[in-house]
Amino acid sequence: MEYRILGKTGLNVSRLGFGGIPIQRIDAEGTKKLIETLHKAGVNFIDTGRGYTVSEEYLGYALEGVRNDFVLATKSMARTKEAMSKDIDISLKNLRTDYIDLYQVHNPTPEDLIQVMAPGGALEALEEAKAAGKIGHIGITLHPVSMFETALELPWVETIMFPYNIVETQAEELIKKCTQRNIGFICMKPLAGGAIEDSKLALRYIAANDDVTVVIPGMATEAEVTENIASVCDCSPLTDIELKSIENIRQALGTNFCRRCNYCAPCSAGISICGVLLMEGYYSRYNLKEWAFQRYNAMAKTASDCIDCGICETRCPYNLPIRKMLKRVENLFGK
Ligand code: SF4
Ligand code: SF4
Repeated sequence: MEYRILGKTGLNVSRLGFGGIPIQRIDAEGTKKLIETLHKAGVNFIDTGRGYTVSEEYLGYALEGVRNDFVLATKSMARTKEAMSKDIDISLKNLRTDYIDLYQVHNPTPEDLIQVMAPGGALEALEEAKAAGKIGHIGITLHPVSMFETALELPWVETIMFPYNIVETQAEELIKKCTQRNIGFICMKPLAGGAIEDSKLALRYIAANDDVTVVIPGMATEAEVTENIASVCDCSPLTDIELKSIENIRQALGTNFCRRCNYCAPCSAGISICGVLLMEGYYSRYNLKEWAFQRYNAMAKTASDCIDCGICETRCPYNLPIRKMLKRVENLFGK
């Protein structure tokens, strides 16, 4: 396993990290097994979030006895001092530790960021927790490029987490700036929220970019862990065949695809927007027509339930034409 220094934090982290979202689908014992495998392979960076339901708790259980061998990162949507202070204490309790290495402000909008940094804002709680030794470092997670640019200028930001993958390269220049400014870059969404099927190629592509400090694919099975370790550890240059495949993926996906971040929710009509768009992806791209058709038909609300209010589009950080996309899905599935 290759290790890198995570920017200003000075933490030595494995290039492959563990994204803690998918363990919500398994259980505490399953998480323990995954952590054992990661531990053996030398993967030492774990990222979770207050918003990921049981993820922090499962990790707390799984890390008993080995916590000090890992760099622990979590994040909170809290924007006020009071709420952030509360969340830090909950994270400490859930993770069964008295110290969290990295605590991140989770995906603030421009308005949120103003609130976070204002008197009585979440940053005050983070700085107090840092001074008290409850957390080691402060980072931020973002989706829009404009927020990445803003974050690069903030002196308290020690790490930035942002989506980067074969089809989302819009932040490449900003990722380079992270290196220049000694800010650790944590790569999220390496598979573009599940849109890229070839995880090996996706991770090899990211690992080939020297400015990426650590990449955190979500993993919930032993097989995924083993495969991802092998992909990131293979530092041979991308072959011509792989470069061709990357081009093919870019052509197939374009830029107007859903990353399943769910920021558009809740839909006024109760549609699971990312769920509906995912079924379209399975139907059109992955040759799972029958399966996707059945799953789509079993949904309580489908694309045809859209009342055209447009609220979701104002929330989507990728400015996707959601209503048009839903029309396409309606035409495809007939409802
Ligand atoms: S435009 Fe349609 S999909 Fe979007 S929030 Fe309104 S009803 Fe839901
Ligand atoms: S439509 Fe946009 S906001 Fe909603 S899940 Fe997809 S990418 Fe995220």
